[in-house]
Amino acid sequence: MRVACLGLGRMGWHIAGHLADHSDAHDLAVFDVVDGLTGRWVEEHNGTEADSVESAVTGAEFIVTSLPSDQELAEVATEVLPAIAEGAIWIDHSTTSAQIACELGSGMSAVGGHFLDGPVSGGVDGARRGALSVMVGGEESAFARVEPLVEIYASRVRHMGPVGAGQLTKMTNQICVVGLCQALAEGLDFASRAGLDVENVVEAMLQGSSTSWQMENRADKMLAGEYDFGFSTALMRKDIGLVLEEASSMGVSLPITALVGQFLADVDAMGGTTWDWCSLMERQRRFAPANLPPNNADGR
Ligand code: NAD
Repeated sequence: MRVACLGLGRMGWHIAGHLADHSDAHDLAVFDVVDGLTGRWVEEHNGTEADSVESAVTGAEFIVTSLPSDQELAEVATEVLPAIAEGAIWIDHSTTSAQIACELGSGMSAVGGHFLDGPVSGGVDGARRGALSVMVGGEESAFARVEPLVEIYASRVRHMGPVGAGQLTKMTNQICVVGLCQALAEGLDFASRAGLDVENVVEAMLQGSSTSWQMENRADKMLAGEYDFGFSTALMRKDIGLVLEEASSMGVSLPITALVGQFLADVDAMGGTTWDWCSLMERQRRFAPANLPPNNADGR
């Protein structure tokens, strides 16, 4: 069995790495468009360096992609579609619009293959640990064939419905998490300005009703002001853009998501484009009324 992995970035590097660890079960060909990146990956892992998308996917039964956005996915598709083997399954782990997933679903069907949209949650750390949560849209029979492969790098793989349903599930995930992170930033800032021992406050809250993945995994970084890791502000802004566009076409109101989207634009403007998006904390600190310049003559 042959597997092709396209995109060896922060997520794809580890996804392909787990597949390489199981390469007694399949041949693995990898490719990334960045000069030298594929070679560096092959130096560290058990797999074959391909020199193009086309050569990676030729003869592959499974194609696994992890690309930045709709644009790169569409570009890759122009090379994948003419080259696939009959019956090949393409599972895409990028976060994209549901629309492009549907277009690629039709495109792959037209050339005798299957497309599954399988965006992920769990971040770079989840990818490193092989513990991603994968939300998959597409034909059930194709899902059943690819599931054992995905389980190599994921701890939870769920079929969500027809093609596009994976992306709509991921959008729901992002809607549910954006407000949480802003609320956490506000809570930490409030506790700190109230003079409390904030680490102690977090310990108390972790067992209570306000607990969250963000609190468990990000509160310490937010308190330390360390943002040079993780899921970038730029990628979260992309995701929120996708969510708001989809919601607008459905006539759904998402006021908190839209507001935090604006806050992330502030973080971007502060120089936080590549920071983990929990840097909402930095905006909270800098934009607090106490830090704004006084607007009256005697400074009150
Ligand atoms: P990344 O930018 O680090 O990696 C994407 C890789 O795709 C890059 O190495 C890039 O060179 C490669 N690429 C672009 N065009 C290509 C082409 N034509 N052929 C081959 N390779 C090409 O991004 P990432 O952080 O790995 O994220 C990938 C996807 O996963 C994104 O859609 C992101 O929204 C989603 N995601 C990321 C995280 C995270 O924590 N980083 C978490 C969940 C979901």
